[in-house]
Amino acid sequence: MPDKRHEFDVAVIGGGLVGSAIAWGLARCGQRVGVLDEGDVALRASRGNFALVWVQSKGFGLAPYSAWTMRSANAWREFADKLEQQTGIDVAFERPGGFNLSLSEREWEARRDLLQRIQDQPGMQRFDFEMLDRARVQQVIPQIGPEVVGASYSRFDGHCNSLRLFRALNAGMQQLGVAYLAEHRVEHIDYTGGEFRLATRSGAVRAAKIVLAAGIDSVRLAPMVGLNVPVRPQRGQLIVTERIAPFLHFPMQTVRQTDEGTVMIGDSQEEVGPDPTATRDVTAVLAHRAIRLFPQLASLNIVRSWGCLRVMTRDGFPIYEQSTTCPGAFNASCHSGVTLAAAHALLLAPQIAAGQLSTHDFAPFSARRFDVQALAA
Ligand SMILES: Cc1cc2nc3c(=O)[nH]c(=O)nc-3n(C[C@H](O)[C@H](O)[C@H](O)COP(=O)(O)OP(=O)(O)OC[C@H]3O[C@@H](n4cnc5c(N)ncnc54)[C@H](O)[C@@H]3O)c2cc1C
Repeated sequence: MPDKRHEFDVAVIGGGLVGSAIAWGLARCGQRVGVLDEGDVALRASRGNFALVWVQSKGFGLAPYSAWTMRSANAWREFADKLEQQTGIDVAFERPGGFNLSLSEREWEARRDLLQRIQDQPGMQRFDFEMLDRARVQQVIPQIGPEVVGASYSRFDGHCNSLRLFRALNAGMQQLGVAYLAEHRVEHIDYTGGEFRLATRSGAVRAAKIVLAAGIDSVRLAPMVGLNVPVRPQRGQLIVTERIAPFLHFPMQTVRQTDEGTVMIGDSQEEVGPDPTATRDVTAVLAHRAIRLFPQLASLNIVRSWGCLRVMTRDGFPIYEQSTTCPGAFNASCHSGVTLAAAHALLLAPQIAAGQLSTHDFAPFSARRFDVQALAA
């Protein structure tokens, strides 16, 4: 039974894709949820992403991450359908399989070796992938440029319209009674008498449980509830072209055609701190490679290029954790909030609602792994 002393059963701190997916999932479990979000000045990762639901290259160094990603990708169809049934918003999820194109034999071999090493890890739930030569790629994607030597392909990869995903989650959670509190940057968290008190400039909020989903600001908030969330911003830049007739029916890691006809070209990985500025040198490199992959892109107008920030841990894997000193405080930080949205909504949220994360699912993602890594160094 909900405890009426608290305003909310759960306060989710952060209304990006991660916080919104969890909040929607919590509301579906019957929890009274408040989402406290900073204003538009926040350094938000959700301002940009490539919208891939991507599996093939995930998990080198942490096999459970590959399995978690696969569970999410497998749950995505159900997730997208539930969102559409509830909100009427089609998030354009498709899973035709994804390609990673190689522009030299060396790239192709490096790709093959990486994917094989992922599959060969101890504890890996293996899945199949294919390494294709140029002729086989050309059969399904005739538009590839003359320099493309081949590709990796996995039938498990897909993509969606992530702007519509964000809108559907927001509409869906509010329809389910979630209070979305904009301009509620959490400055401080107190835990007393089994209750969390969140101090914001727009007033205080009380909740029985909290979820840190504040992206990069979770670093600052985590120690207030006995957690450790060492994440940093990593910049990625993206380009989007004018709309053209559909020509590319499969997602790829650096080029994909959206359901609306634009072509997205991405995405860099830059260690420049919390600076989301787009720079011409990087976008030129992205555009040049995209044209080598698909020469027809050279004639397209670019309508926008921009920079955005990934929420990145030291080893690139997520942190999911519950506090032992402040029971009821949970954290969710990751850099693949689109891919993992289905898992966050349908698998993680019910466990948070129940007040306990399963050790089997989440122990590998504890930030305590960084202590072990530090000792081993
Ligand atoms: C270039 C690029 C490409 C990407 N491509 C993909 C992809 O193809 N597939 C994929 O799965 N993922 C991709 N991602 C990642 C994906 O976009 C993010 O995982 C996703 O946006 C979720 O971010 P988030 O919710 O953790 O953080 P954010 O979007 O940063 O949300 C955090 C929220 O918390 C709020 N906030 C911060 N501090 C506070 C506070 N103290 N109090 C209250 N609110 C606070 C902010 O206002 C913000 O709304 C990409 C990211 C980048 C940068």
